[in-house]
Amino acid sequence: MSAQVSATPQFEKMALIGFGLIGGSIARAAREQGLAGTIVTTARSAKTRARVTELGIVDAVVETNAEAVKDADLVILCIPVGACGAVAEEIAPCLKPGVIVSDVGSVKGAVVKDMAPHLPGAAHFVPAHPVAGTEHSGPDSGFAELFINRWCILTPPEGTDAGAVERLRAFWAALGAKVEIMTPDHHDLVLAITSHLPHLIAYTIVGTADELAQVTSSEVIKFSAGGFRDFTRIAASDPTMWRDVFLANKEAVLEMLGTFNEDLSKLTRAIRRGDGEALSEHFTRTRAIRRGIVEIGQDSAAPDFGRPHAQLTRKPG
Ligand code: NAP
Repeated sequence: MSAQVSATPQFEKMALIGFGLIGGSIARAAREQGLAGTIVTTARSAKTRARVTELGIVDAVVETNAEAVKDADLVILCIPVGACGAVAEEIAPCLKPGVIVSDVGSVKGAVVKDMAPHLPGAAHFVPAHPVAGTEHSGPDSGFAELFINRWCILTPPEGTDAGAVERLRAFWAALGAKVEIMTPDHHDLVLAITSHLPHLIAYTIVGTADELAQVTSSEVIKFSAGGFRDFTRIAASDPTMWRDVFLANKEAVLEMLGTFNEDLSKLTRAIRRGDGEALSEHFTRTRAIRRGIVEIGQDSAAPDFGRPHAQLTRKPG
């Protein structure tokens, strides 16, 4: 699927604070689509800034967050959730009146609470979360197609200028995303079950396997295709990002974890009692959910996530 190239830039100057998987993907896609007259970026370390300069994707790489946002009409924080409040405070005095300030954080309630008090009244604050990613991070990990056909959730606080929300919606749509608007609290509840809990489970199971005494870690790696391998991809996600997600979305994650533990106990009981009917009923229901995800185009119908499989070749002689 390809999105249309817009004839005129939607923004004169876009500032991206943070240039990792998400910031780098926004820069690449916005450049390809011609969505900003000028793209300026910065990152925390001199190493990342030097690499971004080398990549040559943006118009300017500057040293400070304050410098980056000067004269920008769109500012997007593409940094870990826990850093958003301090950065909002730092950039606030340098923002141009009428600027749209957004972010891409995986948690919305905490980000709104941390950022909103610092932003001047003349700035339009429209938080966002592109529900798209990979387990990779850093300036080389981004790619322009990341957001195509994925959802981007906007969580504008009550009373946000409708024109600003529409401009950001159009921006994300031009990056290829489907856009939905919801409250920060509802976002955090939905993402707790669809993203945060799965990550917690993956981090747990991979850690458990690593600590097993009866099965060696080389056996775990060798026989990983039995299901474990798919958890390892998720458990390889960025430690700083995910630490911040669990600290910032504590309430919703604990609520979902409570429900999960109850359901795990039910399945544990079914296994202990040899209750095949309960297991079958449960697994049939979950299989239907996977089919639903494929049907709405959020994943491929190809077996094993479409991984290539080696061909059997007949040995001569
Ligand atoms: P990433 O690849 O690790 O990149 C993070 C970037 O933020 C780096 O350029 C880092 O600079 C910079 N940074 C960190 N603290 C900063 C600060 N105080 N001031 C300026 N720059 C700072 O992370 P990512 O995966 O793009 O994630 C960024 C955000 O997107 C997170 O809030 C995450 O919740 C959200 N998100 C992630 C995914 C995903 O799958 N990864 C999906 C959706 C949303 P250095 O390199 O110099 O440290």
